[in-house]
Amino acid sequence: MTNIRLSLEEAHELASKCLLANGCDDENAKAAADRMVQAEGDLCHSHGLFRLPWYCGAVKSGRANGKARPRVEQLAPAVIRVDGDGGFAPLGQTVAHQPLVDCARQNGIASLALVNMFHIAAMWPEVERLALDGLCGFAFTASYPYVAPAGGIEPLYGTNPMGFSWPRKGQPPLVFDQAASSMARGEIMIHARDGHPVPETAGIGPNGEATTDPNVVLEGAQLGFGGYKGASLALMVELLAGALIGEFLSIESIEDDAGEGGPPKGGEFMIAVDPARHGDPEGFLARGEKLFAAILAQEGTRLPGSRRFENRKKTADAGIEIPQSLHQSILELM
Ligand code: NDP
Repeated sequence: MTNIRLSLEEAHELASKCLLANGCDDENAKAAADRMVQAEGDLCHSHGLFRLPWYCGAVKSGRANGKARPRVEQLAPAVIRVDGDGGFAPLGQTVAHQPLVDCARQNGIASLALVNMFHIAAMWPEVERLALDGLCGFAFTASYPYVAPAGGIEPLYGTNPMGFSWPRKGQPPLVFDQAASSMARGEIMIHARDGHPVPETAGIGPNGEATTDPNVVLEGAQLGFGGYKGASLALMVELLAGALIGEFLSIESIEDDAGEGGPPKGGEFMIAVDPARHGDPEGFLARGEKLFAAILAQEGTRLPGSRRFENRKKTADAGIEIPQSLHQSILELM
């Protein structure tokens, strides 16, 4: 596979131009391009430029609003709702950030219901941003039904990621962001493409049969990580990012897509906690560091998020690589 090397600035320009050419206005194109290039910079390619043709298709078909104007509403003293106006999630998330921070500082804790948006991608950008403002962040979203409930065989839950962040002084925050499924769907697709088996824990076939064939899993159902425990977390995410905030469950989101195969429409639920207002304002940072030092004292460990932060340092100067075929298809969209 031949790759094309781009600086982060070039990647941003490419993404922005492509989104503008397909019906986004400046504000929406910038927010989506910022988020895609941020993902590329951390080498999280599955949320990077690879998504551009998908986004452009959704705007062109009129399903996603490329000129969205998200609206912020205060539902209760510590509850904010942001309606994404049918646009892509990054603009709604950008607009929601400061009101959520202000509300959490005022109340010690605040929650955010982000609704009416397309493709809530990875959770780490939002929770990392909260931690850079000194807060702990939690984020959850559902998507399309891929994961069977514990004991069942029909896909019902999304792969339903959850992100968490903890602030650190003079260092990047502690961030983890993980799916509730045993394997990310994209990973299973890549195994299918490359003809590699998947672990038996990844999923089951259409009749519930055990399999290591990724194509059979894609026809059947994925499984939660750690069996019923991951399935319960996926269930929790459906309730928080769907039922709680008045947004789609994964089974409703796929119905809404009506076979178009576009980015999922749905919501995200976030919680921001001000650790300075939970009983140990002077000590919480040092106690966190004590735990991190104890983890790292054991050989073979690392902190979650550290891989991305290392990647970020490398790509800041070296730029990124994308497949030539992707580059070409982006150029053809302009
Ligand atoms: P991974 O299993 O790759 O990683 C999960 C977390 O574990 C990351 O924070 C990672 O940190 C950390 N981690 C990995 N290895 C170690 C280790 N050895 N020691 C300590 N920490 C470790 O992620 P997933 O495949 O579950 O998810 C990938 C991405 O896909 C996420 O960003 C998620 O939000 C997104 N996603 C989005 C969905 C959607 O519907 N929008 C659905 C499912 C997933 P690090 O990043 O540093 O490796």
